[in-house]
Amino acid sequence: MNGKHHVMVIGAHCGDAEIQAGAIAHKYAKAGHEVTFLHLTAGEKGNPTHISVEDYREQKIKEAEKAAAILGAKSITLGYKDAELKEDEETVTAVAKLFRELKPTIVITHWVNSMHPDHALCPKITQAAWLKAALPGFDIDGLPPHSLSRMLHSENWEDMQGYEPDIYVDVSEEFDTYLEALSQYWFIMNSTSFRYYDYYKALGTMRGCLMRTTYGQTLKFPIGSNTRKGSSIPGFEL
Ligand SMILES: [Zn+2]
Repeated sequence: MNGKHHVMVIGAHCGDAEIQAGAIAHKYAKAGHEVTFLHLTAGEKGNPTHISVEDYREQKIKEAEKAAAILGAKSITLGYKDAELKEDEETVTAVAKLFRELKPTIVITHWVNSMHPDHALCPKITQAAWLKAALPGFDIDGLPPHSLSRMLHSENWEDMQGYEPDIYVDVSEEFDTYLEALSQYWFIMNSTSFRYYDYYKALGTMRGCLMRTTYGQTLKFPIGSNTRKGSSIPGFEL
């Protein structure tokens, strides 16, 4: 695929999209491609005790904007409530409308298995929105249909059941900027429930070891979408 791509990373909560694919996204942004982080909720219920849920929501939206600016991307936070995400008509149509307006070519989102229900709903919402955005017969404010070229999953510590990477991307040159972007988030640096910063720095190092580069970040095809059909074995044509 040639030309300009629009990479959209869709996360359940502000911070998810960046930790999962921030280094890959930055690599594309640096090369002149458009990158958008779409957060379906702010993830406001992980608020520290001294900040209200409402104030933490505002804080996370600002943190997301700072992280996106560092990575060369745009940040959009929708108004759905943390831990209350639904795969319903309204949510799917809202995401489909964004697909028609912003025209992403590739979307990266959570893996299908997760300990967090909001995370597990993201690929379902994305897939349903892809179909609706592409269907000419589905009217959304008169916007022209738009189809994604590909959807991929990416790596999040809460979504690891059955996640085995299919694609490793060398992000050695992007990793310092990625860590700087992550450090904009209070929860990544200060959470007492999980060592986010340490984990993602170690994960990028480990993935880099496995692909024999300094740092790596991974992606996974949706189940069944890496199937090839043809007259011979791909790469071993008759
Ligand atoms: Zn999350």
